[in-house]
Amino acid sequence: MKLIIYILFVFFVYKISKYLLTPSVSSKRKVYRNADAADDLMIKDPVCEVYFLKKDGIFLNFGGKEMFFCSPECRDKFVKLNSNK
Ligand SMILES: [Zn+2]
Repeated sequence: MKLIIYILFVFFVYKISKYLLTPSVSSKRKVYRNADAADDLMIKDPVCEVYFLKKDGIFLNFGGKEMFFCSPECRDKFVKLNSNK
């Protein structure tokens, strides 16, 4: 009978410590996952090869393909280069 109480106690302590340790780990993971979300993604400008945040980029729908550029100048340059072909 004493052994069962001891086992339950150990299990209880284990549960408590797990409960106390888990939130910090999962919240850290959540922040990391949010940083990886679409809008905070770092993408490369195909014209000047500069990296920038997708949310700060200039959007262009080029023949159904979604493209992002660091500035309107790069977007115009890309359109010009690809329409000459
Ligand atoms: Zn650029």
